[in-house]
Amino acid sequence: MSRFWSPQIAELSPYVPGEQPQSRNLIKLNTNEMPFGPSPRALEAISACADDSLRLYPDPASTRLCKAFADVQGIRASQVFVGNGSDEVLAHTFRALFQPTAPLLFPDISYSFYPVYARFFDLNYQTVPLNADFEVELADYHRENGGIIFPNPNAPTGILTPLSRIAALLADNPDTVVVVDEAYVDFGGESATALIADYPNLLVVQTLSKSRALAGLRVGAAFGHEDLIEGLSRVKNSFNSYPLGRLSEAGAVAALEDADWFERSRTMVIRNREMLSKGLGGLGFEVLPSAANFVFARHPSEPALELQSALRQRDIIVRHFSQARIDQFLRISVGTEEHCAALLEALQEIIAG
Ligand code: PMP
Repeated sequence: MSRFWSPQIAELSPYVPGEQPQSRNLIKLNTNEMPFGPSPRALEAISACADDSLRLYPDPASTRLCKAFADVQGIRASQVFVGNGSDEVLAHTFRALFQPTAPLLFPDISYSFYPVYARFFDLNYQTVPLNADFEVELADYHRENGGIIFPNPNAPTGILTPLSRIAALLADNPDTVVVVDEAYVDFGGESATALIADYPNLLVVQTLSKSRALAGLRVGAAFGHEDLIEGLSRVKNSFNSYPLGRLSEAGAVAALEDADWFERSRTMVIRNREMLSKGLGGLGFEVLPSAANFVFARHPSEPALELQSALRQRDIIVRHFSQARIDQFLRISVGTEEHCAALLEALQEIIAG
């Protein structure tokens, strides 16, 4: 607390991201990054762009990147908004598109940035409990609200909500914005972007941090009706006109154009996820059905915090959340085949010991 802070700052409870350790000799399975590097075409594009043109500001509208996203999604460039990571896109969404007159709704077990943004932007919110199987129960969202947001697949559970239920929610909730946060959709989900044409209140948010292996570049996007995109642009242009640098835009465009790399990489992650889930099941873990690049698992007798610290001693880091109902779970990002094998071997030793 400093006497120089504005009054609101002392009241904030900021989001705490997963640890980014300095040491490289760790098996890092704690923040859902890809275990291998991005498309070589993205790296070439970034290098090619590192020249004297960096003295110039980037295109404030990131026109090429909006077009590249639109081509991948089968929508118009005018239906795309881009930002500095999907976290920034989400922040602008909270500011631009949620109404303060009724509570914003999101799952009680979900991305922990949502309550942070809600408080930051002075929005009322209510959390809606996941059902007994840890699923997002969209039938429970049919009530007065100032907006609805949930990840699909959900984080940290990895569980997918079928598109048919999302369409039913949209049909029943035409007056406020519904945001589907698809950070992990490429690992087994079906995107709600196909529903944009039918529902002007739908915003789909995606990121290049996961399935394109570009968490370090900070590129996220939103897809929706032109009116929603214009709302986001108004906030962005009142905050930072140039959220994406020249290198980010060039790398992102090339990554989106590399369909072969994308297919190969996500297929590998899905294959490793199935191997990891099976291995954990063999060690007695209950593993929630994951459509993401991580699994959420608990052991019937080994306390999660003890497992986490025993793994850490073996240079493997995974994520734990101290929240009711999920405090016996570990969230484990899907690594390479070798990472997954090392994790399973370490867990086997820990449990046997
Ligand atoms: N949404 C969800 C559900 C996430 O887990 C994350 C990653 N922490 C994000 C959004 C933000 O990702 P980024 O800012 O890297 O695009």
